[in-house]
Amino acid sequence: PLVLGIETSCDETGVGIVRGTSLLTNTIASSMDEHVRFGGVVPEVASRAHVQSIGPAISRALDEAEVTLPDLDAIAVTAGPGLSGALMVGVSAAKGLAAATGKPLYGINHLAAHVAVDLVAPDSPGLHTPTIALLVSGGHTEILRIGDIVDDIELLGATIDDAAGEAFDKTARLLGLDYPGGPNISRAAAGQFDESGAPGDPQAVRFPRGLSTAKDMRDPERRYSFSFSGLKTAALRYVTAAERNPGSARLADVAASFEEAVVDVLVTKTLLACADSGIGHVLLGGGVAANSRLRRRLTERCQTAGITLRIPPLQLCTDNGAMVAALGAEIVRRGIAPSPFEFGVTSSLEAHDVLIA
Ligand code: ATP
Ligand code: MG
Ligand code: FE
Repeated sequence: PLVLGIETSCDETGVGIVRGTSLLTNTIASSMDEHVRFGGVVPEVASRAHVQSIGPAISRALDEAEVTLPDLDAIAVTAGPGLSGALMVGVSAAKGLAAATGKPLYGINHLAAHVAVDLVAPDSPGLHTPTIALLVSGGHTEILRIGDIVDDIELLGATIDDAAGEAFDKTARLLGLDYPGGPNISRAAAGQFDESGAPGDPQAVRFPRGLSTAKDMRDPERRYSFSFSGLKTAALRYVTAAERNPGSARLADVAASFEEAVVDVLVTKTLLACADSGIGHVLLGGGVAANSRLRRRLTERCQTAGITLRIPPLQLCTDNGAMVAALGAEIVRRGIAPSPFEFGVTSSLEAHDVLIA
């Protein structure tokens, strides 16, 4: 099926078009630059940017894919989770298109779409199920068990405070680095901002590993859960120490150690979920997948454990429209009925609610 997907849950206005499992186009406009001076995504600013970008993004996607609206078999749109105002722009646009063309409309789950996107990756082996998915971005940090991409998604654990990307962004700010913090902390860890230029030592500072004590690991509620807020406080201690005693802590060491702490818990808990469930497949998604230390550690540890790892190309890991179209196409392929036209957005839509029905 030929499906157009719309994604506006956060700061990316994404429109993607897929035919079955081939990706025809994936246009993205991001309002990231407008959030830099606030140090994080500002919902009102994101909503306004979506309003401005959505029309042009849809036209461009149709042009690039060389298809017209009547050619489409269906329209899919992210209905949640995400920022309500931002989601509303995408859902309204999708409803307008569906009403004007008479095409079926599918309101779908952003988290499931982050997984389904691997169906349209250029080198995709198909979606192996069951798989354990690790989704890490500015807005979420989840470990999911995917038994089936439409019918069987289970949330194993999530962050109880900051998302992983948010931890990067907030800590970067404390260290005097710009938003988005992820890439800048990585640069700092590589030594780019230190005079010597030498890479940081990831073992220099022992930052806390949240919810990782033996007691936490025995608690089914905490075993696959994350907490990153303690890291900020710990990082702040190093910043104040450095202010009092210049030269006491190298920025590269602090950044590398911070990265290591975040990555260590993410990877450890993901592999734990594999071991517990006997699942030998992992899929990584979300903007923090751009972090090379995370990719490296996850690759190493999966290799050692004999686990197959999928990391879709980066532009498919960050928020985009193709992921919505990919999940929409899979749902259409199965002959599942569209969503009722009256559906609204659900900012806290749960992972197992793959399709608004
Ligand atoms: P959502 O949570 O809905 O997916 P988002 O816009 O918050 O939306 P993304 O756009 O997927 O998420 O990712 C942005 C986040 O990824 C930011 O928090 C950013 O700091 C983080 N990030 C980007 N590159 C890196 C990196 N190299 N290392 C660590 N974090 C990174
Ligand atoms: Mg984003
Ligand atoms: Fe996302």
